[in-house]
Amino acid sequence: MSIDDKSNAPTKTHKDYYYILGVRPNATTNEIQESYNDLYEKFGPHITAQSVDAEVQIRTFKDITDAYGTLMDPGRRKEYDKNSDVFRQTSDVRALWGKVTKDKKSTQDASKPKAAEDVQIQAQSLEMEMEISLKEAVKGTRKSIIITDPTPCEECADKKPLERMQCNACRGLGYFNVDRSAEFEFPPGIVNGAEIRKQGQGRWDLRAAKYGDLIFKMKVREHPLLKVMGKEIKVVVPITIYEAMLGAEIQVPTATGKVSMKIQPLTQQGRMHRLKGLGLAGADMIVIVDVVIPKKLSGEEVKLYQRLQELSQEPNPRLALYEKHEHTS
Ligand SMILES: [Zn+2]
Repeated sequence: MSIDDKSNAPTKTHKDYYYILGVRPNATTNEIQESYNDLYEKFGPHITAQSVDAEVQIRTFKDITDAYGTLMDPGRRKEYDKNSDVFRQTSDVRALWGKVTKDKKSTQDASKPKAAEDVQIQAQSLEMEMEISLKEAVKGTRKSIIITDPTPCEECADKKPLERMQCNACRGLGYFNVDRSAEFEFPPGIVNGAEIRKQGQGRWDLRAAKYGDLIFKMKVREHPLLKVMGKEIKVVVPITIYEAMLGAEIQVPTATGKVSMKIQPLTQQGRMHRLKGLGLAGADMIVIVDVVIPKKLSGEEVKLYQRLQELSQEPNPRLALYEKHEHTS
């Protein structure tokens, strides 16, 4: 049977090929080959041991050939290292690997290249989307999340790789996923799409034997009234025609509550006000006034408006418009 058959190998797997072959993640091709030879002798299709469940044997031998085929091909091994979502084995399993390697070394040619012992393995980061309200974005917040850590299976941690593969407790994975809750602080001034990295506070990485980083992809929920533009927050506030003309003190909704704001007499439609520091991270909040024209008038009001019109010394607001029109036509 051809063990190099590429069509046979899965492109994405949750299986730990290094673990299956009982080699360390930085094993050389020689080490992988030797390990495979041993495994082939014990688990190859020629073995029909009564003590081993046939299905388990087939499954594990398929795993072994998959693992071997992938790890012996530098391109596929690289791809696997990059894409496999497996959590590799822990420090105690590594101690076992060390033992296996030492046992092998005594029978090995001393001139063979030795794999680097102290390769620094980068712990995998955990990315998570975190949705917060605009209020939380402005004020900062605390959030509790569940992180799932792989935890070595006690049933098989001290067993040999091949026995571990047949462990019923963990179904051969060598670990269990265990949930824990963790609380995180988010500073004030978070904008939508921001990335917040909590170093070494993510998921336990079995292969690196340390915690990876946790990266929060921040999503700020849309507010029904307030629009975020960069770090500024914009709101449109309706005012009456009387407030626009006479001035007023009005309440303006902000991300964290209401604040009062002065409307100057004779405020024009669409006028922009800035409220200092009420946006995100010290940016301003922008208030645009929208003058609301009355929708109905009583007879008395109509009379009063007519009287106001007579009293008004306001020039025709269209004069400049007409002038321009004459010049251009
Ligand atoms: Zn187990």
